[in-house]
Amino acid sequence: MKCVKCEKKAIINIRYRNLRLCRDHFIEYFEKTVKETIRKFKMFSKKDRILVAVSGGKDSLALWNVLNDLGYRASGLYIDLGIGSYSRVSREKVKKFSKESGLELIIRDIKAEYGKSLEEIKARRKTCSTCGIIKRHEMNVVAHEHDFDVIATGHNLDDESTVLLSNILRWQIDFLSRQHPVLEPWHEKLKKKVKPLCLLTEKETKTYVILKNIDHVEEECPYSVDASTLFMKSVMNSIEERFKGTKYYFYTQFLKNIDIFKNNKKWKEDLKECKLCGFPTNKDYCSFCRILR
Ligand code: SF4
Ligand SMILES: [Zn+2]
Ligand SMILES: [Zn+2]
Repeated sequence: MKCVKCEKKAIINIRYRNLRLCRDHFIEYFEKTVKETIRKFKMFSKKDRILVAVSGGKDSLALWNVLNDLGYRASGLYIDLGIGSYSRVSREKVKKFSKESGLELIIRDIKAEYGKSLEEIKARRKTCSTCGIIKRHEMNVVAHEHDFDVIATGHNLDDESTVLLSNILRWQIDFLSRQHPVLEPWHEKLKKKVKPLCLLTEKETKTYVILKNIDHVEEECPYSVDASTLFMKSVMNSIEERFKGTKYYFYTQFLKNIDIFKNNKKWKEDLKECKLCGFPTNKDYCSFCRILR
């Protein structure tokens, strides 16, 4: 199998784009796709300070690395949730990456900050839902305190098409209206949120980190086995297996038609500020402060 751009051996076959690429042409393709996604969705410019949420996994480290290679001003934020050995290993990987690349890293240790780890917060919710609330809150707080212009996360095409499928299956109109690669701030304390890898698949980010020799955590979070997202992902993969290009088509066509869902302003009604942390919420206390209490 030869690269479609040169005579070298192809190391990847990107079936949905009909592209077989060698190492160098794959990296060129990966960087170009990220650059075009940033431009197409007007995510940020070279002047902006970007806070990259890094978990130590392949996607977030690939994102941090590619933004740096493309000349953007990207700092990392690692949120230590205190999930046993998983958190210890991932924290070390992120620290190692930041040291080797000479990039600024901010660490928020939940236990040190609030006296409880994720496992000790006995919220009446599923662990992943509690975790999501904590991560969103901490990203907002750090971006606000350090005055970043934008928050970037490593969500890829597999993540986005899977979430889209789940949202459609339940007709979650509020979620659908906000499922865009760019979420504009809707309160003075919030920053713009962007997903520059949203048009690249999990297989592509995995190939990128291998080729770039990026040491990342392979171990899955122990809670991810329960995540219903994993099941939805496998459904999406089965469809893709049968009809190549489905994920890409499903997601990009949705983005073209997202305005259909946008008239729903329900989630903005009754907007208040949390009595404890001051971040926006529609109750007296935000979800984060409620689970902590
Ligand atoms: S799998 Fe769940 S608990 Fe683990 S990091 Fe992801 S969201 Fe958090
Ligand atoms: Zn080539
Ligand atoms: Zn709060």
